[in-house]
Amino acid sequence: MIAFITGISGQDGSYLAKFLLDKNYEVVGLTRSYNPKNLERLRFLNVLDKIKIEECDLTDLSQVMGLLRNYSPDEFYNLAAQSSVSLSFKQPIGTIQFNINSVLNVLESIRILNLKTKFYQASSSEIFGHNTLPITENSSYNPISPYGISKASAHLIVKNYRESYGLFCCSGILFNHESYLRSSNFFVKKVITESIKIKKGKVDKLKVGNIDIKRDFGWAPEYVKAMNLMMQIDKPSDFIISSGKSVSLREIIEFTFQYLGISKKQLVIDQDLYRPSDIEDIYGDSSKARKLLGWDYDYSFFDVLEIMINQELENEQ
Ligand code: NAP
Repeated sequence: MIAFITGISGQDGSYLAKFLLDKNYEVVGLTRSYNPKNLERLRFLNVLDKIKIEECDLTDLSQVMGLLRNYSPDEFYNLAAQSSVSLSFKQPIGTIQFNINSVLNVLESIRILNLKTKFYQASSSEIFGHNTLPITENSSYNPISPYGISKASAHLIVKNYRESYGLFCCSGILFNHESYLRSSNFFVKKVITESIKIKKGKVDKLKVGNIDIKRDFGWAPEYVKAMNLMMQIDKPSDFIISSGKSVSLREIIEFTFQYLGISKKQLVIDQDLYRPSDIEDIYGDSSKARKLLGWDYDYSFFDVLEIMINQELENEQ
């Protein structure tokens, strides 16, 4: 089995690569530009030398078609994206262009080349915005950020190719999922790395924006398993992947500070870090994934936090 993973250098790409290699897949990883420094996460998981890395600009149809023609992969996991909600407010055009056109190029290539390649799209809970909770696969789309809008459009494109052309394509609608391999511009990883710096006397304060919002957070290595499960069922469909509970960002800081013995006085709320709009609370219902995929998840996010803090302490430079 040959699997393509776009965004292989990211958190999910790295964990998914490891998971698929363990299942004896041949993994081809796509990156915008080959740079060994960007592939640190794959090295951390000891899988870099087992993966074939290809450079590809996913916004260039001819490059995408060329690679698909060469390999005819069995499964295509599309994880590449400008993945930050905050950054999408600063780079709305780039985010929307990349996150939509990349998906269209891959699906068009599969269709034009008449391949049997199964396609997975990394969709997001951000497509739902303010909504009735819990979120299910039938909830209405109401994105409130450029990132959410780009992911909602990509989500509908996938549905359209499935229904119009009968392609095997599906969207995993993943809620936030974290790990040691998360980029440091994301909230949980930032709280942990900055708190450790405070503990070591390297910085003075943790500066954050609105911490009274709540999110449904999970453990990334468990979430990538659901991506693979979605590709094994007979009839492609979209699935919510979530823990089912939300916690506030304030609780995450309190837990981390308490775990590391840091005073609450080191916390600074900075109005400049507030987003132009934000979802107050969101959590998902993964009953469909549990029932049809047999996906199982039972972590409390505070257990995940403890694992992340300890891994950070073990591996910090
Ligand atoms: P990530 O760590 O940010 O990795 C995404 C990868 O996409 C990057 O490593 C980058 O790899 C590639 N990329 C391609 N074009 C890009 C662009 N214009 N800007 C920035 N990066 C670009 O993301 P992740 O956490 O692994 O998430 C994987 C996918 O799931 C993403 O599509 C994300 O939006 C989605 N998602 C994530 C979560 C979550 O909580 N983690 C939740 C829901 C959905 P190269 O530079 O090597 O090309």
